[in-house]
Amino acid sequence: MRQPLIVANWKMSKGLEEAKDYVRRFPGEVTGVSGIEMVVCAPFIALAVLSKMVQQTPLVLGAQNMYWEREGAFTGEISPLMLREVGVRYVIVGHSERRNLFGESDSLIAKKVASALEYGLAPILCVGEDLRQREAGQTKEVLQRQFFAALERLENEQPGRLVVAYEPVWAIGTGKAASAEDAASAAGFVRSLLKEIGSAAAQKTRVLYGGSVNADNIGDFTSCEDIDGALVGGSSLKEKEFAAIVRSVYEERRG
Ligand code: PEP
Repeated sequence: MRQPLIVANWKMSKGLEEAKDYVRRFPGEVTGVSGIEMVVCAPFIALAVLSKMVQQTPLVLGAQNMYWEREGAFTGEISPLMLREVGVRYVIVGHSERRNLFGESDSLIAKKVASALEYGLAPILCVGEDLRQREAGQTKEVLQRQFFAALERLENEQPGRLVVAYEPVWAIGTGKAASAEDAASAAGFVRSLLKEIGSAAAQKTRVLYGGSVNADNIGDFTSCEDIDGALVGGSSLKEKEFAAIVRSVYEERRG
C-alpha cells in the first residue's frame, strides 16, 4: 500500500515571513489527519528556517530545484548536500517551467534525478505533454521519452525514493485540470513504464497528478488506482486551501 503524498509547490511565491506564517498556521488546519504525507516545496531562502519549524508539524520539507554536483564553482546554484543539511527530503526535478523557461533538457534532468537519489533526496520527477503534443495524440510518446531519459543514469535500475508526477503542461496554472479518465490513463501508463524497470519499482513508486488541482477536484484523481496524490501549485498557496485538499484525501482513504 503506497502512502498518499500531497505536495505543495509554492514556486516563486512567499518571502520568509509569509512562509513562516503558513507553517505556523497549517497544522491547525489538518488536526486529526494521519497517514498522508504532506510536503511543502518552499523557495530556497526559506528552507533553513522552515526546516526547524516543520519538526513540530506534519509537514515535510521539499525544494523546487537543485544542481547535480555536490559543490564547486557553480555560481548561483544549490547542491543536494546543501539541501540535505537544512533538512530537505524531496526535490522537484524537471518541472515544465524549468524545462520551458530555463531550457532544462532531458539529459540535464537525468543528472539531477541520479544526484538527488545518490545524496538521499527523493526526486519528484515531472513529466507531461504540452497542448500541441496532446492534440497530436503524442501524450504517451512524450511520457515515455521523458521518463526513460530522466532515469537513464540510474545505477542498477534502482528508482529508490523516486516519485513521478504526471503534469500535463496545458493544465498547469490554467484552471483547466485534466479529466479523471485522462489522468488515470496517463498515470497507468507511467506505472507500466515503471514495470519495465521492475515489479518492485512499479509497486512502490508513487505517481502523482498535477495541474489545476483544488479541494473540489482532488478526489477525481486520487480515487484512481494508479494516482497516489498530487503536486499542487496555485491551490497550495493558502494554507486553508492546501489543507482542504489534504483533508479530502484523508476522508476518501478513510472510506
Ligand atoms: C505545478 O506548478 O506543478 C502545478 C501543478 O500548478 P497548478 O496547481 O497551479 O496548476
